[in-house]
Amino acid sequence: MIKAQTSNDLFQRAQNSIPGGVNSPVRAFKAVGGNPRFMVSAKGAYMYDEDGNKFIDLINSWGPMILGHAPELVEKAVRDAIPNSLSFGTPTRKEVEIAELIVSMVPSIEKVRMVNSGTEATMSAIRVARGFTGRDKIIKFEGCYHGHGDSFLISAGSGAITLGVPDSPGVTKGTANDTLTAPYNNLQAVQTLVDANKGQVAAIILEPVAGNMGLVTPAAGFLQGLRDLCDKEGIVLIFDEVMTGFRLAKGGAQELYGVTPDMSTLGKIIGGGMPVGAYGGKTEIMNYVAPAGPVYQAGTLSGNPIAMSAGMAMLTYLNEHPEVYTQLEQTTSRMVAGMQQNLQQAGQQYTINQVGSMFSIFFTDQPVTDFDSAKTSDTTLFGRYFNAMLERGIYLAPSQYESLFVSTAITPEVADQYVQANLEALQEAHQA
Ligand code: PMP
Repeated sequence: MIKAQTSNDLFQRAQNSIPGGVNSPVRAFKAVGGNPRFMVSAKGAYMYDEDGNKFIDLINSWGPMILGHAPELVEKAVRDAIPNSLSFGTPTRKEVEIAELIVSMVPSIEKVRMVNSGTEATMSAIRVARGFTGRDKIIKFEGCYHGHGDSFLISAGSGAITLGVPDSPGVTKGTANDTLTAPYNNLQAVQTLVDANKGQVAAIILEPVAGNMGLVTPAAGFLQGLRDLCDKEGIVLIFDEVMTGFRLAKGGAQELYGVTPDMSTLGKIIGGGMPVGAYGGKTEIMNYVAPAGPVYQAGTLSGNPIAMSAGMAMLTYLNEHPEVYTQLEQTTSRMVAGMQQNLQQAGQQYTINQVGSMFSIFFTDQPVTDFDSAKTSDTTLFGRYFNAMLERGIYLAPSQYESLFVSTAITPEVADQYVQANLEALQEAHQA
């Protein structure tokens, strides 16, 4: 057994002063058993915890650390910015520069507003879509997660499903009534909802590649079908690219699949590890945002100079190094191919989904194309597998319903260590 005493002690203490001992539910090990590990530092492909354990990191802060931990170019940008004050509450040059860069990278974005998290981005985007269309309802998909805004905690994925609260208490009936849900990849279901709510749907929001029920890919024609429906019905199509933005391509999933939404939400990589989100889209829609227009949205620390410096360094690098995406795809495909071989060798049949540097193994023999099929996974088996991987120094997301994220710091050698650990963990999980 790897050491865990210090983490265990801290977790005991944490529970007295922090609800559940963590500042975000996905960090708890509730679904997999045991206590969370408290990290001290991380560099490149590795994280180090309070007990001196070293882990190969496959969550990468849930996405942002696409270049691995503490890349020098981002650290330097932050160091350089610090002496100039941590915040002004006035406009700065950096905000103009990062906005111009985002507009040049993301196909759907003509104007962009910076916020402090993915949650703020999605909450603001639907407010703007409602203001723009003068309609109240939104359609989201079962198992997609768009942050913890009230409107989205209906059939939500990620920690909400991991902890069994996809419909959170505290969300009013009125809000819940304005959120319509459809199964992912089911165009007919969306059409039926739109027909039943003619002229009332402001926006359709989705993860263009879903990462919050484990990784689920859009079926051929699904994204384009939504695009066509939205065009026909005057509905604002919003791609939530908080996970996929700057990860699947420099222009996100919309670039990869060639479908351009009306609005996009961003987070994670855009801040290089600092708390940043953004929403943007067509000029005619974004001009509804205050002070250009009547839809109010604001933030004391929005466009924070330190965060903008980190984000600018990260995005500039990705923009200038498209080979990053080829490398990430190759590393991830190597890992997935190794896992497929392992499954054959172990005589097991499980489903692995992958797009670029995102992937999930589902402990089910069925194809996983939506929330219902994701839920056929054996989560008890996943829990044993997770702990067997942890014992071998591999840090996975502590839930079946999350995607894993590969960074450029994962070399082919590290990828092979992962594959070897995967084989042993699959066998161990089955022996229990
Ligand atoms: N949208 C998506 C697709 C996400 O994956 C997340 C977070 N994992 C969010 C929104 C919310 O972002 P944040 O946690 O920064 O509020």
